[in-house]
Amino acid sequence: MSAYLEKLNPEQRLAVEHGTTVEGSHIAGPLLVIAGAGSGKTNTLAHRVAHLIVKGADPRRILLMTFSRRAAAEMGRRVERICREVLGANAGIMADALAWTGTFHGIGARLLRDYAEQIGLDPAFTIHDREDSADLMNLIRHELGFSKLESRFPTKATCLAIYSRAVNSETPLEEILRDFFPWCAGWDKQLRDLFAAYVEAKQAQNVLDYDDLLLYWAHMLHEPLIAEDIGRRFDHVLVDEYQDTNRLQSSILLALKPGGQGLTVVGDDAQSIYSFRAATVRNILDFPTSFTPAANIVTLDRNYRSTQPILAAANAVIELASERFTKNLRTERQSAQRPRLVTVRDDSDQARYVADQVLENRESGVKLKQQAVLFRTSHHSGPLEVELTRRNIPFVKFGGLKFLDSAHVKDMLAALRFAQNPRDRVAGFRLMQLLPGVGPSTAQRVLDHIGEEASPMAALADFPVPPRSGEDWTSFVATMQELKSGKAGWPAEIGLVRRWYEPHLERAHEDSATRQGDLIQLEQIAGGYGSRERFLTELTLDPPDATSDQAGVPLLDEDYLILSTIHSAKGQEWTKVFVLNAVDGCIPADLAVGSSSEIEEERRLLYVAMTRAKDNLDLVIPQRFFVHGQHAQGDKHVFASRTRFIPATLLQFFEVCSWPQARAESAVAAQARQVRVDVGARMRGMWR
Ligand code: ATP
Ligand code: MG
Repeated sequence: MSAYLEKLNPEQRLAVEHGTTVEGSHIAGPLLVIAGAGSGKTNTLAHRVAHLIVKGADPRRILLMTFSRRAAAEMGRRVERICREVLGANAGIMADALAWTGTFHGIGARLLRDYAEQIGLDPAFTIHDREDSADLMNLIRHELGFSKLESRFPTKATCLAIYSRAVNSETPLEEILRDFFPWCAGWDKQLRDLFAAYVEAKQAQNVLDYDDLLLYWAHMLHEPLIAEDIGRRFDHVLVDEYQDTNRLQSSILLALKPGGQGLTVVGDDAQSIYSFRAATVRNILDFPTSFTPAANIVTLDRNYRSTQPILAAANAVIELASERFTKNLRTERQSAQRPRLVTVRDDSDQARYVADQVLENRESGVKLKQQAVLFRTSHHSGPLEVELTRRNIPFVKFGGLKFLDSAHVKDMLAALRFAQNPRDRVAGFRLMQLLPGVGPSTAQRVLDHIGEEASPMAALADFPVPPRSGEDWTSFVATMQELKSGKAGWPAEIGLVRRWYEPHLERAHEDSATRQGDLIQLEQIAGGYGSRERFLTELTLDPPDATSDQAGVPLLDEDYLILSTIHSAKGQEWTKVFVLNAVDGCIPADLAVGSSSEIEEERRLLYVAMTRAKDNLDLVIPQRFFVHGQHAQGDKHVFASRTRFIPATLLQFFEVCSWPQARAESAVAAQARQVRVDVGARMRGMWR
């Protein structure tokens, strides 16, 4: 037996060799590998592809679909490594020929270009990302006059979400509204008109959105001859993370391979976390019986990723799920270290705790890259991002924009910087253009004018009010002057900036409620710094090379910490994993509106998070954490309690501890801060 097969356990080998025992043109029947996290599903899939190639399959005729482009690239590397082991130098050529590896959407785009003319599509179509799509939806919303309706018509983001869910789940609009957007139910007629106009606009502009890539693909396959033609291009079709595919995706697979010949899918129903994108766990559960004869099923029962205590805790959490197909796993990786439940005072302490631990781990030889911090939603990492930036710990973030890079946070910081230093042209330029009626050339003129004056803030007040800018201008000037005077004090002045900025935020962004929450969070973070100056300088917000878009993003060969939403962490693993905000209200997210199936999905989300860890897992529980915008009570710190998914009966699986508050500043540091030296005078004195 080849060495690469010997490394697999018997069940994995069964899946890898399925249908290939007879050499030559034999193509296997449908195969499902369904098993828990870390059991080697992805690894098995990579081995299967390599094995098929080794056995003579044409790599150009293998279609391999993964959950992300990152996962596709990783899969390609793994296949190549195995092929190289067996085939030697030729393997490079082999794996390069594995051209049909990618996401459903990416593969769809390629096939649509190939067949465009047959289905009345201009092959030069361009693709809209979600933001473009929302903008187009918004434009049409305005054109049809829906944005001016008396009662509140759904926002562009909601309209797009409704549209997307309807097309991805192949479900009538009424049902979608009833089940997922009940507060929009009265708008079905307008929404229908809106979506019709949206589709027409896309066609007129020759653009496809993400959903179209699947939708057009699926519809193209309704044409039996085209379906057969495309189906014949691929001898083998393999899909990872099958539990998170939606109806359209499964219908595409069935149309390509109606008898299931050459079809392999792998997944874990306990990790199904994408139902908000219309993914349905039924796809994986129904897979075996979608074919006659039914698909072969392989289950795996050994976890190779996590230590025994981590696996035991994760198993205990998912065991409380109401419905579940995959069985618990066992592992042979022994360890005395149970996962930790770490109680900290609040989200600032949570950030400090994680930063401390990450550095300690690095000291003891665990690279930053082998550590990850996971969280429920992108904005949960705000305080941590600030703390990491302050301490110069490089990080990359998956699944959302970096907090300090987001437009609204930058706007606020620009206001503070400008108040601090009205000669800061970058900040001033950014700020003034927020004002209606002030464009780049006006901003330029203002900055030129005040830059020459001894007292720039006074000069700003003297500057004639730009036409069409009226009150917005005067309130801008008044706010800046008040800030400059320092009367409001720190951190109250951040509140001042925020109140000035909010109307501009609302004008510029549809999702202003979420962004407002970020700003309040910024206020909380900044409050911890004692003064405006310290806050701004310690952050070192301006990267040295401010002209490059890539500034601040570490180079790939550098070491950096991973920050990721749990959703984006799917399929990956790290030596040390931290999960932020393991409290009710975060995981599960919003208690007030959660239906039981939504709550169950949140449980699976925690399971996904916990099973990313190889050696160490910390779930952090801030006693107070920050909520915003969700409930009538608005933004505030609330007292939090441990996530309901870890009830008292499960505490035995954890080491429960709390992290002491940050040590007080040393006496010398405090005194040194009082010292005042005019270094500038000394510098000048050197030349006199
Ligand atoms: P997830 O459900 O999180 O996607 P998975 O089931 O796809 O997990 P993999 O990522 O394929 O699991 O594998 C988890 C880890 O176990 C990897 O580090 C992989 O290299 C290792 N592994 C898998 N199978 C074996 C094996 N037979 N022997 C040794 N290590 C293995
Ligand atoms: Mg996997």
